[in-house]
This record gives sequence, C-alpha cells and structure tokens, in this order.
Amino acid sequence: MISLWMEQVAPQPARPALQQNTDTDVVIVGAGFTGLWTAYYLKQAQPQLRITILEARQVGYGASGRNGGWLLGEIAGGDKLLQALPGAERQSGHRLLQGIPDEVARVTEREGIHCDFKKGGVLYCAARYPEQQQRLQAHLSECRDYGYSTSDLQWLDQSGLQQRLQMANSYGALFTPHCATVQPAKLALGLAAVLEQSGVEIFESSPVVRWQSGEVATPSATIKARWVVPAVEAYGSQLKPMQHYQLAVQSMIVATEPLPESVWQSIGLANGEAFCEASRLISYGQRSADNRMIFGARGGYRFGGGLRADAPLSAGEMELRRHLMQQCFPQLEGVRITHNWGGNLALSRRFHPHMLCDYGPRIAVAGGYAGEGVGASNLAGRTLAHLITEQESELVRQPWVLRDKPLSALKRWEPEPLRWLTYKTVNQLYALEDRVLSAPTPAWQRRLVSGLADVLEGVIS
Ligand SMILES: Cc1cc2nc3c(=O)[nH]c(=O)nc-3n(C[C@H](O)[C@H](O)[C@H](O)COP(=O)(O)OP(=O)(O)OC[C@H]3O[C@@H](n4cnc5c(N)ncnc54)[C@H](O)[C@@H]3O)c2cc1C
Repeated sequence: MISLWMEQVAPQPARPALQQNTDTDVVIVGAGFTGLWTAYYLKQAQPQLRITILEARQVGYGASGRNGGWLLGEIAGGDKLLQALPGAERQSGHRLLQGIPDEVARVTEREGIHCDFKKGGVLYCAARYPEQQQRLQAHLSECRDYGYSTSDLQWLDQSGLQQRLQMANSYGALFTPHCATVQPAKLALGLAAVLEQSGVEIFESSPVVRWQSGEVATPSATIKARWVVPAVEAYGSQLKPMQHYQLAVQSMIVATEPLPESVWQSIGLANGEAFCEASRLISYGQRSADNRMIFGARGGYRFGGGLRADAPLSAGEMELRRHLMQQCFPQLEGVRITHNWGGNLALSRRFHPHMLCDYGPRIAVAGGYAGEGVGASNLAGRTLAHLITEQESELVRQPWVLRDKPLSALKRWEPEPLRWLTYKTVNQLYALEDRVLSAPTPAWQRRLVSGLADVLEGVIS
C-alpha cells in the first residue's frame, strides 16, 4: 500500500509508458507536486508550450501521495533567509510564503479539484515537557523581530490551547493561521487530470535512467527537450548527480479508524487545525475529512541514501508511533490503527529548499523541502515557471532562488560514512534529550542535554 490517501481515491486507470522517441519543449521528471505544479504554472504562462511528464511509477507515488497533508505558508529555513534582507523585501517575502495556502485554495477552487482543503491554521504545541514552551516562546520573540504580528503568530496559553486541542500535559502552543490541511493524493491526482485536459502529456511506468541538457532517456525511449526539469526530490538519491544535493530521509505515519464525534469532542481540532508536538523529533498530525487521526512521527536515514520501499511499518515502528500518539492523546487508547505507511523526503545541505535555473543547459530544479514540501512545492512550481519563461517577478527575487546558476551552486552533502554517522549522532542525541526531558530528571541533566542538542543543531544547520 502506498498510503491511506492513495487508497481513498478512485482506482486510476494506468497511464501509458513512453514507448517512442519524441521531442517536446519541457520535459519534467517526476509526477509529484513539484513536477505537477511546475507544469501547471508553465501552461498558465504559455499555453502553447508542449510539456511532457515522465513518472517512474504512478502520479503521486512519491512523498506527494503519502505526506501528513499540512500545507504550510512557510518554507524550511525561510525566516532565517529573509532575516538578512532589508525591511520591505523581508515583509514581501513573508507575505509570499504566508500566501501559499490561499494560492492553492484559489487554484483548486478554479479548477474544481476537491482535496478536502481546510485552512484551520497550525498549533505548535508544548505538550510533553516545559522546555518546549521555552523554546517555542524564544522562537516567537525571534519571529516578532522578523516582523511577524500577532495575527501571523500568537502564543496560546494552556487554556487557549485546550479550547482548540486537548493534549495531555500541555503547556501552551504557538498558533499561526497560515496553514491548511489537504488530502494530498486528491490534490496530486486532481492536478494531473487538469494538466491532461490542458494538453500536458503524462507517461507512467517510465523511469528516467539518464538525463542531461536537452535529453532524458527511459529504458524504452528518449525525449529531446528544450528544457529539462528533474522533480524527484528524495528519489534524487538514485538519479545522478542529484544524490549530491538531496539527502533522502524517511518519515512514517499511522492513521486510526474513523472516530466518533464523542471522541473528537474530547480532542478538538474542530476548525481543521494541523498540529505538532514541538520536540526536536517532531510528531505531527491532522484530523482527516473522514474523522481519522492522522499521526506522523520520527523518521530514519538509510546508509547511502537508500529509499524506504512500500513495506508496512515493522512492529517496532508501529509501536513507537502508537505510544507517542497515546502519550499525547490518552483519549485514543484502544482505538484501531487501520493504516500505516512511510515515505521518502529530502533535505538539502543548506536545510532550506532550492529553486534553481541554469539558462545555459536549460535545466531547472527544485527540492530539499525538509518535510515541508506540500506548500513549498507550489511556490517552487510558480517560481520555476517564471524562471523558465523569463518573467520578472517577486517570485524569482527571493533568497532561496538560484537564478542562472549551475547545479554545482547547490551545496553538496558530505560523502558516506559521514552522512550516516552525522545522522545517527544527531538522532541519538535528540532521542536522549527527549527521554531526559520527558522524565522527572535533575535540572543540571536537562540543561546539559538540551545545551548539547542546541550546539549540534547549530553546527549542522
Ligand atoms: C511520510 C511523509 C510525511 C510528510 N508530511 C508532510 C506534511 O505534512 N507537509 C509538508 O509540507 N510536507 C510533508 N512531507 C514532504 C512532502 O510530501 C514532500 O516534500 C513533497 O511531496 C515533495 O514533492 P516532490 O514532487 O518534489 O517529490 P515526490 O512527491 O517524492 O515526487 C517525486 C516523483 O518522482 C518520481 N521519480 C523518482 N525517480 C524517477 C525517475 N528516475 N524517473 C521518473 N520519475 C521518477 C517518483 O516516483 C515520484 O512520484 C512529508 C513527506 C513524507 C514522506
């Protein structure tokens, strides 16, 4: 099984594989959100463009059909990048990011894509130990310095949080309205259908085995194209030379059976808020349109950037997620977990997404969304479309955009075994911090382990 989301959509007739050599204006590798949004905005900009998407498996097979469905009005590392800009540019960058959910709402409404879109904001909850409250409040004051107003981000005390979400041991939460939740597979498949109506060709079961400027090849045929857009995010670990720039990591999700209204009254999320529990090893979730608790937590890294296949979670992986979910929501004790799945996402070495366009070889890429790609890929699609069609706009002037730069302008990940050792060290230290802080431990131990985790976080980011 790919995910609950993919199971919920009507069975899709398989699209044909690419069988014959051909040519096109833009060839996009990968039918996830990045590829689909890029094609969408290119067609909007220049309807006559011939666009072909080559997908190794099926539309939405990757992270886009498996994620937690948070559609954020921000990108990983965005605050830090914008902080360096003068006031007016910084403000306009923030507005651009915060506007992502509204942009997706506009398009899905205009195109008749039904993807359970609900803009209920997101709660970053201090819900397991008091240090989470201190960290979130420190983040809030940084955000105030960046220019966030109370309507962008506000602190909810314990009772304010409980009016929206009842989590055990809660101390309070940061709330921002700039987030929506979606059923991601419906969004991906809906976009694909809209694209096909506008003349975009999508081939499935067509893995690209080689690509270079002007040409991509599957095992059966070759496409010549003016522009090549690899949009494979974590799968870049298997598509040279992308493995240098996108580190594949895994995330895993469980979903309960649909829960009765009485249970939801004891939990909350009545307005469709997304939520997370703000430890460094984040747990996140949403209430699905059919009233399931969708709960994602923790992740993994495989030596050499190996990808997680479609196998269900192991007994240990399931148990950890059930434990974390029930720790936050004792109300869910005894409910049935009906679905579990995992998927691959990518981190860039600078820990923020990149949107790059090289006008020499005519290559455009985006990715490295660090687990926040549902919204960021919409921004990336708009940005790559403007870069490729050479439109001057605020989209292409943002600090995450590399305009007319080669792929080598992206920072490379260190070779193995350094990546694996670093991941293991970071993960184990964060897990230790989590254990120490969630137990009644002496203050000096808590300060020591959190201090070490802060230092390590500073070094790697
Ligand atoms: C479990 C999980 C939970 C997540 N939760 C959230 C969340 O709640 N909010 C959020 O913002 N982000 C979340 N993310 C991240 C987000 O889903 C991704 O960042 C985003 O979907 C990436 O989209 P993409 O199109 O770039 O990549 P993908 O969706 O991974 O698409 C890449 C596509 O390329 C195809 N492909 C790969 N290799 C080839 C090849 N050689 N030839 C042709 N096609 C190829 C793949 O089959 C795939 O369909 C989550 C990710 C996971 C795995």
